Amino acid sequence: MKILLVEDDVALARNLKQSLESAGVLVTLADDGKTADYLVTTEQFDAVVLDLGLPDGSGVQWLSSWRQQGIELPVLILTARERWSDKAAGFSAGADDYVTKPFETAEVMFRLRALVRRAHGHAHPVISVGDIALDTHAGQITCSGMPVSLTAQEFRLLSYLIHASPRVVSRSELSEHVYDGDQEPDSNVIDVQVSRLRRKLGSETIETVRGQGYRMNHSGETGEC
Ligand code: CA
Repeated sequence: MKILLVEDDVALARNLKQSLESAGVLVTLADDGKTADYLVTTEQFDAVVLDLGLPDGSGVQWLSSWRQQGIELPVLILTARERWSDKAAGFSAGADDYVTKPFETAEVMFRLRALVRRAHGHAHPVISVGDIALDTHAGQITCSGMPVSLTAQEFRLLSYLIHASPRVVSRSELSEHVYDGDQEPDSNVIDVQVSRLRRKLGSETIETVRGQGYRMNHSGETGEC
C-alpha cells in the first residue's frame, strides 16, 4: 500500500510516517495542500490521509477540488477537534472516513486497510484467491492456512495483486504502488520479485499475461506451500 500523508505538523507527520512504514506501508509526505494537489494528480496512491488545518487552506477545500476533478481514491481525514461540523464538512467534500487527534497509529492503519479493501470492492477483511488468503486487518498472507514469511516489498506486491484480482495488473501500475517514487525500478525488478513469490507460494500462483502484466491465478489449488 502506498499512501499520501498531508500534514503540516512536522512531529506528528514524522511519527505517523514511521509507524505506517514499520507496518509495510509506503508513505509520501506533503506538508501543504499545493504539494498534495500536485502529487495526487501526478502519482498513484492507494489512499490519502488528510489533515484539515493546512497552511494554504482547509483540507476540505483541497479534497473537494480533487473530487470535482474525478480523483476517487479513498481519503481519511484527520481532525484536530471533536467538532462534528468539521467531520460533516469533510464528508460532504468527499471524505471516506476520519480519525480525531490525538489518535492511536494502529487505528489509522486499520481504517486505511479497510478503506483500500473496500475501494477494490472487497467487503470481507479476508480476501481469498485460490489457496492464498490475505487478512487485510492483520496484514498477513497465508497459503493453505499457513502464514507465509515475506519481505515488505513482496508483501506489497502480492497484496496489490490480491486486492486487484481478478484484474490483470500492468508492470507500471505495480511499480507505482509497490515502490517509492524515488526508487522507481525497471520492470525487471518486478519480474524478479514475482519469481521469488512463485518460489515461496507455488509456481502457478501468479499468472503472467503476455503483453499485459500479472494476475492472481484463480483456479483453486495452486500452492506448493
Ligand atoms: Ca494542521
